Amino acid sequence: MKIFIETDMEGVAGVLDHDNWCQPAGEQYPGRYYDLGREFLTREVNAAVSGFYEAGATEVVVSDGHGAGGINPAVLDARAWLARGWGGWPSELDESFDAVAWIGQHAKAGTLYAHLAHTQWFNYLDQSINGISIGELGELAVCASELGIPSILATGDEALVREARALIPGIITVAVKRGMTRDDGSALTTDEYMHHNLGAIHRHPEVARQLINKAAYEALSKLRAQSKGWGIIQLRAPYEHITRLRPDKPGDSYRIDKAQHPTSVIGVMNAPWHPEPYQP
Ligand SMILES: [Zn+2]
Repeated sequence: MKIFIETDMEGVAGVLDHDNWCQPAGEQYPGRYYDLGREFLTREVNAAVSGFYEAGATEVVVSDGHGAGGINPAVLDARAWLARGWGGWPSELDESFDAVAWIGQHAKAGTLYAHLAHTQWFNYLDQSINGISIGELGELAVCASELGIPSILATGDEALVREARALIPGIITVAVKRGMTRDDGSALTTDEYMHHNLGAIHRHPEVARQLINKAAYEALSKLRAQSKGWGIIQLRAPYEHITRLRPDKPGDSYRIDKAQHPTSVIGVMNAPWHPEPYQP
């Protein structure tokens, strides 16, 4: 059994904000705890890698999906392969994989009670495929579904867990923290939205890892017992992908991008990008 793990930083227990924990120190961000954030993510990933091997995995590929990089290769479980470098959708996934999992994933832009919610960058208001709103989890999950690969495990904050369960039938989930922000931030600019969803109550990182280890074991065991009937998003061609963007700063316009593809959801995800101004 060959497993693909997509990773991100904002949905990791103990990762408290964007500017200090998810970005390297430099002119733009203080990045005080970025190295610790990468270690926390990598240790959550290791917990999943162990759980998958205990349940019979033969190969695990870990994709570093965080913009600035989130995996510390020196800490990563030696049994895992590490994938990095963007070549378009479906990332490094192909038909040779038996299952997809997410570790450290955050909820989509505009989600209530989500910690560090966003999609791609903090400029997204929303993104949909055939009218179904999706975030970063959904982007890869729709591609995996087209390839016939089930999505079996997702870990992140409670809002990400709600999102995963609503989108993917039967998926196993772990919530490692709970976001506290009570409004969706739809009226905010990109910069304001980046600092909008900072409140959360976190599990201890060690407890989060124990839960993730158990859930990974459970998810792959479930797949080995029941290979069909769960983990796949049912979509029908033709496909339309719509993305709406918020103003980057006061006075900028909202923008919208629309793309169509007659037969392939992977095709529409890779369509050329030409957002145009619009009035919401
Ligand atoms: Zn992300």
